[in-house]
Amino acid sequence: MLEFDRRCLESLREPLETGRVNISRSGHQASFPAKFLWVCAHNPCPCGWLGHPAKECRCTPEQVRKYQNKLSGPLADRLDISVEVQAIDHGALLQGETEPTELGGSAGLRKRVEEARTVQLERQGCLNGEMSAGQINKHCKPASGAEKLLLAYAQKNHLSARALHRICRVARTLADLDQASQIEKKHIATAIQYRKTLGGEAGSQSPVAQQPTYNP
Ligand SMILES: [Zn+2]
Repeated sequence: MLEFDRRCLESLREPLETGRVNISRSGHQASFPAKFLWVCAHNPCPCGWLGHPAKECRCTPEQVRKYQNKLSGPLADRLDISVEVQAIDHGALLQGETEPTELGGSAGLRKRVEEARTVQLERQGCLNGEMSAGQINKHCKPASGAEKLLLAYAQKNHLSARALHRICRVARTLADLDQASQIEKKHIATAIQYRKTLGGEAGSQSPVAQQPTYNP
């Protein structure tokens, strides 16, 4: 992602927010549907080795800062889930991909996702990611302990309304995957861990180090 020009990345803000892209050329305007799921990956620095346990990064602090700054705060704010991925063990790589058997493998995961989607459509007529502010207030009321945790986190990190709503949507989805009618503390805690960490928002700890309960 961070190999793209910053201006190019910023142009994603509008379609991410509205699901449409507007193009103006010599007095004419056109609006196109642009609803998409944004999945992206980036290296920690231009050479790619920053933070690696064995290899040394060749970048200067200035290069790293410039590289990571390509992702602006407002754009990062629109990312619901962020996970740091560690280098893979060579032995595991040679053995081939292993299925997450404790969750029933890919087929088991698919079933859980389909069930969670059905619950969402039946409850509010749309998926959690598409809920309006009013729907979030109605359907994402956390249990009292969970609400306290969310409030404390929001106040400490001066969360925007958008960021707060995004945490609520992710927590609602985690609760749906658990087939829980109410959002519990663990769902809020996991949703908070998934918030992006480049800006140090999630208590400046890596989500990997905190071992999130769910692995998307
Ligand atoms: Zn580097």
